[in-house]
Amino acid sequence: MLLTITTTHQPATDLGYLLHKHPARVQVFTLAFGQAHVFYPEANDERCTTALLLEISPVGLVRGGGITLNEYVNDRPYTASSFLSVALSQVFRSAMSGICKDRPELADTPIPLEAKITALPSRGGEILLHRLFEPLGYTLTAERYPLDSAFPAWGESAYFTVTLTATKRLQDLLSHLYVLIPVLDNDKHYYVGSDEVEKLLRHGEGWLKEHPEIELITARYLKYQHSLKREALAQLVDVETPDAEETVAKHDAEEIAIEDKISLHQQRLGAVLATLKNIGARRVIDLGCGEGRLLSLLLKEPQFAEILGMDVSHRALEMATDKLRLNQLPPKQRERINLIHGSLMYRDSRLSGYDAAAIVEVVEHLDPPRLAAFERVVFEFARPHTVIMTTPNAEYNVKWESLPAGKFRHKDHRFEWTRAEFQTWAQGIAERFGYNVRFLPIGEEDAVVGAPSQMGVFVLGGING
Ligand code: SAH
Repeated sequence: MLLTITTTHQPATDLGYLLHKHPARVQVFTLAFGQAHVFYPEANDERCTTALLLEISPVGLVRGGGITLNEYVNDRPYTASSFLSVALSQVFRSAMSGICKDRPELADTPIPLEAKITALPSRGGEILLHRLFEPLGYTLTAERYPLDSAFPAWGESAYFTVTLTATKRLQDLLSHLYVLIPVLDNDKHYYVGSDEVEKLLRHGEGWLKEHPEIELITARYLKYQHSLKREALAQLVDVETPDAEETVAKHDAEEIAIEDKISLHQQRLGAVLATLKNIGARRVIDLGCGEGRLLSLLLKEPQFAEILGMDVSHRALEMATDKLRLNQLPPKQRERINLIHGSLMYRDSRLSGYDAAAIVEVVEHLDPPRLAAFERVVFEFARPHTVIMTTPNAEYNVKWESLPAGKFRHKDHRFEWTRAEFQTWAQGIAERFGYNVRFLPIGEEDAVVGAPSQMGVFVLGGING
């Protein structure tokens, strides 16, 4: 990622003194997680710009025994995150402390500054950028990137190029960036240590106390976890015999085997997870959570402060409890997650008040005459802000070699929808319950039959798309 800082203070090349970096030189600094390059794309009396380019080594990130795909494939090498804060504090250490041997009075003088940060994630959208920087006196412009410019239908990403302008002491600009970049990103910090409170107070000195968003800044910077006061396993609402549950578990495994070649389930869960992250959801329910495959991904992301898994099958919940090692989790982690027994056929107050619900490969397990009940349970009563639903695309079934023609992928599927069927149904719901819905293909798309799976993202009221 790239940060540039420009001044038009004159002579502008004094920026080199303030930063202790000579404008004519290109310098490389080796950090624990990669390399920082400092150079000046322009340096004259009227205007001087310094650039800090950070190259993060993805391999360096997982040294220490990472094993999951997510540890190798993530946005960390490309986005402005706590790594940038660490780089600032190491590469511009004296400037951050306001020390300048050659121009001491300049370090203490507000000068016109412009900072530009590329690929800055804002989990909270553009509004959060304004809420964080404007109270500090910055003029801010933000340009949002699409999730993938080749697929405009996927919508916007969480990443921005942000330009901040203000007349400030350089030291103040650097402190604001140091604290607020990780706050915007809200991902796992690279540097979580017992001295974080001390660092926050030091870099927040003189501005944080008066900032209207002090609570959000502090909570996100320190990755404060809200304690959950949710009931544990609750009363039985629907009865299934253990035998039936064993069979379902076996069939679930068969379905995954059919689709395994392209690891479709991974792609599906990845798409759901990316959407949940992107909308900034904190409290999430997984309805029909099964063995907890999505739940285990959610647990790894500190963004999700409150996670609830619900399923009608006791057996699935037991398997999820084992798989997630719920009984061995440290108390802080354990507090974030709960599993409950329940049915999507019945109105349930425990499902209300969530930011988002994931309903992954569940709807096709429901009896068509009972869909109307399901629709009301989710969209009228639970009514989360966002509902993410996935279901197979029946048109694609002709492409599965191991699947006999005319059969469903899973023996317990009551139906499988074509793209048009799913979209018509989903549009109807959106209209009836006041949601907007958009559709995304999951898996490799075939020109004729489409992608193997389909996802609908319903957003309450607001603009979607
Ligand atoms: N979402 C999981 C599991 C999908 S399998 C995953 O993606 O891995 C479908 C799940 O829906 C099963 O676990 C099944 O028990 C659950 N289910 C079926 N009918 C349900 C109902 N009425 N209420 C809640 N869950 C139900």
